[in-house]
Amino acid sequence: NIRVCCRFRPLNDHEKDEEAKLNISNSNHLSFSSDLKQVTIINKTHHMEQMSHLNDKINFNYDNILNDNHSQADVFHNTAENLIDPLFEGYNVTIFAYGQTGSGKTHTMMGPESNPGIMVRVMSDLFLTCKENSKSLCVNYKVTVSFLEVYNENIRDLLNNNTDGTDEYLDLREDPIKGPVVAGITEVEANSGNEVMNLLHKGNSKRSQAATAANEVSSRSHAVLQVLVECRDRAPGTSDAIKVGKLSLIDLAGSERAA
Ligand code: ADP
Repeated sequence: NIRVCCRFRPLNDHEKDEEAKLNISNSNHLSFSSDLKQVTIINKTHHMEQMSHLNDKINFNYDNILNDNHSQADVFHNTAENLIDPLFEGYNVTIFAYGQTGSGKTHTMMGPESNPGIMVRVMSDLFLTCKENSKSLCVNYKVTVSFLEVYNENIRDLLNNNTDGTDEYLDLREDPIKGPVVAGITEVEANSGNEVMNLLHKGNSKRSQAATAANEVSSRSHAVLQVLVECRDRAPGTSDAIKVGKLSLIDLAGSERAA
C-alpha cells in the first residue's frame, strides 16, 4: 500500500520577485503544461474523461494535495498518522519526502522546534500508543532506534560515539529473518519521543559537520532513521508471541541530484 501526497510550500522571496502565483484549490489532480512551466490544479468536479482531453498536458493524480495553508498537523493527519497502527501489527512502514533542494522536505519531515514536522509527531504518537496498549492489551514494548547516512553510496553510522572522525563505512547484509540489515550499526533503546528526537539531533549534527567539510554534502546525503518496535505478549502461561514492525523515516537528498 502506497500513499503519495503532494505538498506546496509558500512562495519564497525569489519566486515572489518573479511574480509567481500559487492558487491551489482542494483537489487530487495536478496538470502540468508540457514545458512544465505552468501547473493547474484540476477541480475535483472534473471527470476523468475531461482530464484525458487535456492531451498537451501532463496529468498526475495524488492521494492528497496539501497547499501552503495546510499546517504541519494537517500534513501529519493526511500522511503518516494512519501508519502507526500497522506498525504495531508488525508491518514495515516507510515515510519519506521527495523533491529538489529548497522544496520543503526537511521542513515537512523535521520542521522547526516550534512547529514540528512528521518525524516528531510520529514519535510522540508511537510512544503514546505503546503506553496505552501496554495498559490495555497486556503487552510489553521495546523500541530501538538507529540512524544512518547514505552518502556517495557509503553507509555511515550517525549514532556511534566516535569523536576522532575515524568513522568506518558499514556494510548492508541480507539476513534470512530480519531482511536487509546494516552490520554493526549502533542500536539505542528509547522510551520517549524526546529521547528519539535527541538522538536525531545528535545524528544530524554529525551530518552537518560533514557538510561543512565538503561543499553541498547535505543535499547529496540521505538520512535514514529506523525505529524497531518489538511487541511481546506478557500474559502468563502463553508462549511468547513477538511482533516486530520497522518504521523508516527518511530525509532524502535533493532530487536534482537523482541522476
Ligand atoms: P529541503 O529540505 O527540501 O531542501 P527546506 O525544508 O529546507 O527544503 O525548505 C526550504 C525553506 O523553505 C526553509 O527556509 C523552510 O523553512 C521553508 N519552508 C519549507 N516548507 C515550508 C512550509 N510549509 N511553510 C513555511 N516555510 C516552509
